Amino acid sequence: MIYTNFREIDKAGRIVISKDIRRHLNINPGDVLQINADDACITIVKAEAKCVFCNSHENLTEFEGKHICGDCMAKLRRK
Ligand SMILES: [Zn+2]
Repeated sequence: MIYTNFREIDKAGRIVISKDIRRHLNINPGDVLQINADDACITIVKAEAKCVFCNSHENLTEFEGKHICGDCMAKLRRK
């Protein structure tokens, strides 16, 4: 199914993702979305993986179904 909505950007640069799209993609308050842009398009993808300690999405390593970021991994190694 393809959803198409037309939304106006507000003065702060925000848009609203319609309830039908949020429901379809299981996007909930507090979820992080990754926004990518090139010369012609903007794509928004739900960011699934995050560090179990600090919620970072950067430099993740997976272990037993959980993710840990490089910074937290370094902190653990120092202890
Ligand atoms: Zn972390």
